Amino acid sequence: MKYKKICPKCSSTDIIMIPGNTGAYGSGNNIQIGLTSFSAVLVHRYLCCNCGYSEEWINKKDIPTLKKKFQSK
Ligand SMILES: [Zn+2]
Repeated sequence: MKYKKICPKCSSTDIIMIPGNTGAYGSGNNIQIGLTSFSAVLVHRYLCCNCGYSEEWINKKDIPTLKKKFQSK
């Protein structure tokens, strides 16, 4: 969906990208990994305007950060 811009559920090409953001006090579309909003990982969303299906994506550069925090040892 991210690359083809085609909905896997209904095959619609009416896809929009909703960028992640960080608001005050950690609001917005992100994953908190620390005490401040500066350490949040942004979650970008792709939404099919035809059926409402959405996918969430995280920047590749942020994956090691999440791994470090959430991967069990
Ligand atoms: Zn769809």
